[in-house]
Amino acid sequence: MTAPLFPLFADLQDRAVLVVGGGSVAARKVEALLGAGARITVGAPSLDARLHALAEAGTIIHRAGNFVPDWLDTVWLAVAATDDRAVNRAVADAGAARRVFVNVVDDAELSSFQVPSLIDRGPLQIAISTRGAAPMLARHLRETLEAQFDASLGVLTELLGKHRRKIRTRLPDLGQRRRWFERLLAGAVPRLLRQRQPLQAERALLTALGESAQGPGEGSVVLVGAGPGDPGLLTLRALRALNEADVILHDRLVSAEVLALARRDAERIEVGKQAGHHPTPQDDIHALMLAHARAGRRVVRLKGGDPFVFGRGGEELEVLRAHGIAYEVVPGITAALACAAYAGIPLTHRDHAQSLRLITAHSRDCGAPPDWRALAAERQTLAVYMGVAELGSLQAQLIAHGREATTPFALIENGSRPEQRVITGTLADLARRAQTHAVVSPALLILGEVAAFATTLHWFGAAPLTHADLPSSELRSAA
Ligand code: SAH
Repeated sequence: MTAPLFPLFADLQDRAVLVVGGGSVAARKVEALLGAGARITVGAPSLDARLHALAEAGTIIHRAGNFVPDWLDTVWLAVAATDDRAVNRAVADAGAARRVFVNVVDDAELSSFQVPSLIDRGPLQIAISTRGAAPMLARHLRETLEAQFDASLGVLTELLGKHRRKIRTRLPDLGQRRRWFERLLAGAVPRLLRQRQPLQAERALLTALGESAQGPGEGSVVLVGAGPGDPGLLTLRALRALNEADVILHDRLVSAEVLALARRDAERIEVGKQAGHHPTPQDDIHALMLAHARAGRRVVRLKGGDPFVFGRGGEELEVLRAHGIAYEVVPGITAALACAAYAGIPLTHRDHAQSLRLITAHSRDCGAPPDWRALAAERQTLAVYMGVAELGSLQAQLIAHGREATTPFALIENGSRPEQRVITGTLADLARRAQTHAVVSPALLILGEVAAFATTLHWFGAAPLTHADLPSSELRSAA
């Protein structure tokens, strides 16, 4: 069995490196090496356009001709990137004779060093190697890990580097320093960097240095949109917040598949007005958020869809602000967008609808009575949230205010989830069709000319239940 490779990060700043080969593979390696500040000589009979331009600009040196071992005499490292294995082998052999490390691109056997798959966040670099055994696996892992690390980690690394001495002087004891770092990484500094507020982040770092490492750190709340149910519709930021959460306060609408992606040991608390038989009043949700954040925890307030669309996100932020608790907001895919996409309904369409309205059918959530005339206008799409119980009056009002009784609708129940159902029809039949098919919550109504596309453009889950599926008794009464 071959021994594992020894990982090392080489400082190539102003050091001479040889690349043998003048094609596109060589050009890619040259670009990576230039990023590390190496002084590069490319040895090849001729150069491709990219390398030629670099040589013209004086960024690299071109040694024209076929490889000779002397080329290795003055370099620290070499890369062989020709398509001729005999040449690559000659470079490898000459390197071995001179104790110069040589990488032969995609040829682990000939290489004395290998280049890892890399997650690059400025000074922070995460390298993956499989010893050349499974480059595709390394690549896959890299892609998976890429998603987990915010771009601001590079800036965080720089900031910590800048104050490294100060931190060591202030906290000479290793255990003490470790505890301080744990608090720091769970607190305001990474959050402020995510919020693209570097000056405030640096100030918070210096403040934290002045404080003792006792007591709870600073808690915060991230208001996160969980999307409609399909976990694939989470944003990368939502996923990261779930990975870092100490406590998750989630609505009932949030799917189990989404919750399963959260940190194992995060405490999960179901809240919200639809939770079980004992709804949590909004004030109690506020109290819970405040209590956990004040105890220094990272709280994720997880809501179905988007937190700012019929989600009371605004109210919750006002409370946090009033109590001086730091917060972030991660948008989610709101039900209207998700249901439309998963039912094959374009919400706007050059020929059929120029605008979209997101409305709620819950009269108690609207305050003043809705402007029915405006809602009944043609050539617009209505996306109606929380409507199942109110479809009868909605239908009557829209028709009374001038919307055609033949306007198509689609009712989407459990949009984006495996059990999704789509029921289509026309406005005159809306309430009856919903009743016939016993539509339950959560369901979203899309009303407007575009809803007709559900019959032809559907692609997800069960085919839509169209008029043709009506039980024969209903067909008779509809006639
Ligand atoms: N903030 C959420 C909406 C909360 S109000 C969002 O942005 O989506 C709750 C209503 O949203 C439900 O009554 C229903 O009308 C709609 N809804 C949420 N998820 C849904 C889903 N998966 N399928 C259909 N409708 C959904």
